[in-house]
Amino acid sequence: MTMRNAGSEEATRSPPRTDDDTGAETVLELSGVRKAYRSETAVSGVDLAVERGELLTLLGPSGCGKTTTLRLIAGLDAPTEGTVTVGGETVAGDGAVTPPEERDVGMVFQEFALFPHLTVAENVAFGLDDLDDAATDARVDELLDLVGLAAYGDRAPGDLSGGQRQRVALARSLAPEPDVLLLDEPFSNLDVRLRVEMREEVKRILDEAGVTAVSVTHDQEEALSISDRVAVMHDGRIEQVGAPGDVFEHPESRFVASFLGQADFLPARVGESAVETPLGSYARARLKGVTDDYRGATVDALVRPDDLRATPTADADADGRVVGRRYAGPSFVYRVELADGTVVSCLHNHTEEFAVGTPVTVELVADHPLAWYPDR
Ligand code: ATP
Repeated sequence: MTMRNAGSEEATRSPPRTDDDTGAETVLELSGVRKAYRSETAVSGVDLAVERGELLTLLGPSGCGKTTTLRLIAGLDAPTEGTVTVGGETVAGDGAVTPPEERDVGMVFQEFALFPHLTVAENVAFGLDDLDDAATDARVDELLDLVGLAAYGDRAPGDLSGGQRQRVALARSLAPEPDVLLLDEPFSNLDVRLRVEMREEVKRILDEAGVTAVSVTHDQEEALSISDRVAVMHDGRIEQVGAPGDVFEHPESRFVASFLGQADFLPARVGESAVETPLGSYARARLKGVTDDYRGATVDALVRPDDLRATPTADADADGRVVGRRYAGPSFVYRVELADGTVVSCLHNHTEEFAVGTPVTVELVADHPLAWYPDR
């Protein structure tokens, strides 16, 4: 299904907002959005601005409110409170409720939802009812070319592979040039190998089309690899929005830290110029932005497997012992229990094989300041 159009009579239109400093134009804006289903609050306090041409991914565990947010943007549901603005037009809130088919929003569904009785070209042409035949043919050719299916226009969707069906779905949604394209778990129906290949391909197509897109996933690797920005959701709220590298390296909460890959927390007692940890003493500057307010306090420093290295040693010199190991083909991840009971993970090349029970020293090899959280 493609939802688009020129907007309803009731809708309030104002010029899209432009950031004076960066020149970036906000195409989609959610402000103070809450959605309640009887006693259940699905999302609340959602503020989000998506800029022209960017791909923003809503990421979070099952039930955190991603799909609800997408449905509110599409117009498949109306917010209980707050406003949704698309291309400068208030489509929900302030008394306006623009139906899905009148929003300038396209959607790619998980199952692609192609029409089986139409050819690939006819599927792509489906939403182009305001163009004449020649203009429709030209636009379909342009889109099939963009998604790498120029030779497949006459095929039936049933004769295509999963990846090709996804390309057709994408072309069909892009055809009417929506202001915003929504992608609901776009890779979940593809097998693992194809998923990785299609991530790059979909990102290329979206970039070339210059479309503004919002995608939903619970797969952190997918979100980090394709997005310009990631919004991490938890319990109906957005916990953090930022570039993938920012949210991964500087998570603002333990939840975000733990959701985006393996996270362990190392107790660190803050001194005047040093911090004391179960791995020894380190310069205080190792903790990102820690202030004198925390002097004398113990905080939890975030350490990921690639921040730490284990080296087998004699029992008497050991920081801890290997208590588990996970083989992942090119690498091993060792779980090491330190003397104070803290368990941390260390990432090693597959050639560095240690047995469970091996006494080890653990070195902090991270070359970046560590995120940290006040002790609970
Ligand atoms: P998933 O990844 O499993 O799809 P999600 O992050 O997309 O999850 P939502 O589907 O948005 O989460 O659901 C958020 C919360 O709202 C959940 O607790 C869910 O049970 C509730 N919810 C969603 N839709 C409805 C509905 N139609 N009626 C009642 N509760 C709903």
